[in-house]
Amino acid sequence: MFDNKSNTVFEAGYLKLYRSGLLKTIADELYQSISECSICPRCCKINRFKSYSGFCHSGYKVIVSSYCLHFGEEPPLVADSGVGNIFLGNCNLRCLYCQNYQISQNYHIEKNNEVSFEKLADIMIELQEKNATSIGFVSPTHFLPHILKSLIIAIEKGLTLPLIYNSNGYDSVEILKKINGIFDIFLPDFKYGDNEIALEYSSAKNYYEIALDAITEMHNQVGSNLLYGNDGRLKRGLIIRHLVLPNNLAESFKILKGIKSSIGTNVCLSIMSQYYPAYKAHEKILISRPIRESEYNKVLNILEELGFENGWLQDYESKHIYKPDFNDRITPFKIKE
Ligand code: SF4
Repeated sequence: MFDNKSNTVFEAGYLKLYRSGLLKTIADELYQSISECSICPRCCKINRFKSYSGFCHSGYKVIVSSYCLHFGEEPPLVADSGVGNIFLGNCNLRCLYCQNYQISQNYHIEKNNEVSFEKLADIMIELQEKNATSIGFVSPTHFLPHILKSLIIAIEKGLTLPLIYNSNGYDSVEILKKINGIFDIFLPDFKYGDNEIALEYSSAKNYYEIALDAITEMHNQVGSNLLYGNDGRLKRGLIIRHLVLPNNLAESFKILKGIKSSIGTNVCLSIMSQYYPAYKAHEKILISRPIRESEYNKVLNILEELGFENGWLQDYESKHIYKPDFNDRITPFKIKE
């Protein structure tokens, strides 16, 4: 596979929206809306200024569980110096096998990592000063309004890097439309082709349709081509991640067929073999083992049959390389340049 790229002079999309005043309007509107929260498709309608009782157990302050330069993302994102990843705490999914479960599923503990918008802005600036290629928000969905409020402060302190929206795909199209132009790079997961399985393993209703619609909207915003700056770093585009699960629980064929018919085969895919049983995976027999090489190869064959040509394939043996440990919040990943 190869990447579908072109070179361009780049300015992050949010800068134009900041200059026009629109970024502030969007940030304020979204932040106010958490008083009856519908930021993600769960539409809990709770008041996050007063309560943590939404599905994501997240309130009016943003939770930063960890941040670092990360070298384990796709090659054009890492480029010469790594992505400046900011790992937000909690999640709007409950994946029984979550590899980041230490920070995504421990809301009592993660509440201790609530920070101010100023602090999140300072983190973005710190990562930019460390020569990050971009700022990657990992699990941004439930904290999107907080990210935008912090972004305004970061812009005023000199932020210019592109932003990555690295989500689980369980995003609201309506909210994505509102933030059109702010994120230059979308890096969503597409986890399940079967809603019953998504409900059982991630407590997510209608995951397939919701993720397909959300990713289609991301594609509407940035297209299929990857745009590189004159510095050779990825500046704009969509990369759809798909983690192959044991026993075909992800229904990879249905996912790839859905992408083909809604988005086309030019889009960049990142096919991942790194599944290993984490968190509560040992309680469910069908996800209690890594994937087999034959299972992975079957998905690669489907890719070829459907005509996908752009993107990246993880090596089958990669599961040990990408295993995070958030007990070490400073360097949760041991991958080096
Ligand atoms: S962001 Fe959290 S509180 Fe808001 S709708 Fe989603 S899960 Fe519920």
